[in-house]
Amino acid sequence: MSQARALYRLQSLELRQREVERRLQEITAALANDEAIARAKANLQQAQGRLQQQSIRQREGEDALAANEAKARATDERLYSGRVSNPKEMAEMQQELAALQRRRGLLEEQLLEVMDAVERSQADLNEAQENLRAAEAAQAANHAEWRQKRDALSAERRQLMADCSAAVAGIADASLAHYRRLAKQKRGRAVSLIAEGRCAACGVSLSTGREQRVKHGKELLTCQSCGRLLVAETTN
Ligand SMILES: [Zn+2]
Repeated sequence: MSQARALYRLQSLELRQREVERRLQEITAALANDEAIARAKANLQQAQGRLQQQSIRQREGEDALAANEAKARATDERLYSGRVSNPKEMAEMQQELAALQRRRGLLEEQLLEVMDAVERSQADLNEAQENLRAAEAAQAANHAEWRQKRDALSAERRQLMADCSAAVAGIADASLAHYRRLAKQKRGRAVSLIAEGRCAACGVSLSTGREQRVKHGKELLTCQSCGRLLVAETTN
């Protein structure tokens, strides 16, 4: 294999290596990302908080109603017990009973509203729980797929490292140094194919003589326009 071809092979391996690294980073980030679940959990927590508050209000409403009823019962019993005979006191007690009755109507109305709200919050909570379960199931499925891809890419990375070492072994130090310098300047693409008499990277035509020398593969030639090392498409 000519030096140019060996370098071109090394470049292909290294470009693929770069792509594999990039994909692995993406997958690692995707595996760590549980945004949908975090959102579903936050929603669930909010729904739980609302239900808790409204349940407290419901209990308070029930207690107030019970206290109202107890007070009315006690006043009523006292009024008709025969123990109270003072007309002024009896009138006051009747007024109080009427007031308690009015208050009871209000309390019942408020309690019904709170009970409605509790029911709605319970429905919200059920929905939030369902959403969280769905998010967790989706994540588990995605993660299984991503882990499979990650394992395949990791295996490919190991193979590429071995292949790169083998490729480097067949390249002269000076050629490799030249390639490394150029690769830095050319975003990893230090070697260009010749296609139809042109440098495939920059499109500039080569003289027939130069193209023949590249095809011959005895020496390392560069494109006179972009400076990349040249390799013929088909020959070794
Ligand atoms: Zn060029």
